[in-house]
Amino acid sequence: MSVIQQRTIFTAGHPEDVSWVVDINSLKRVKDWVDEYPSLLTTDLNQMKADFPQWFVTIASRANPVACSCGEYIVPKEGQLSCISCNSPHRGHVRGIMWVGMIPVQLAGTDKVYDRVLQKAQSGKLYLPLTESGYLLVPIRIVYPGNWNREAPSCYYDDNFFSTLGISGANSTSHSHHMLSGGKMCLFDSWQVMTIRDVLRNRILPHALAQVRIADGKRPRDWFTR
Ligand SMILES: [Zn+2]
Repeated sequence: MSVIQQRTIFTAGHPEDVSWVVDINSLKRVKDWVDEYPSLLTTDLNQMKADFPQWFVTIASRANPVACSCGEYIVPKEGQLSCISCNSPHRGHVRGIMWVGMIPVQLAGTDKVYDRVLQKAQSGKLYLPLTESGYLLVPIRIVYPGNWNREAPSCYYDDNFFSTLGISGANSTSHSHHMLSGGKMCLFDSWQVMTIRDVLRNRILPHALAQVRIADGKRPRDWFTR
């Protein structure tokens, strides 16, 4: 069954919804595991479509997405890796496969953090979307390892997440925030096989909420159960 993914792009300031059928074959050249175990990818595609329909798969260089010269993401579609916006095929070697999308992190109900973020919004210094109901929308990147699913994926917050919460220092190696170097989340003592949807739902969402609580003055050990 084919999976359709989508993204809203802006052309000359106008939003346009673009969708495409994810072409698994064009990712087989990127990672051997896609070729050997395509069902691992189709499972992730189907689960993510059901639970996080705005997320999509793109190509990565280490921890970051590879951008087209026009600035948009490059995705697997129609037999090649090509740009969402201008359709230019990507040339050159591709090393990584990544999921990108946003998660809603509840700020409403905190003692201090929500007020601090609202002040940033009023002074034009809030760089992440905030919903009217008090959820901060945080971009997340999830990079597949070389031998999925024998190894954990690498998961990263948008650089603005910690500064928005007022705890900029946490975005590097930090034991109390469960963060590793390079802004990578520390999510697993030891990896247990799970799908990307479950990494997102069961590990990243609680990890993000814990950051909000710690920024709000709560004790880390009350919010990280490991
Ligand atoms: Zn382009």
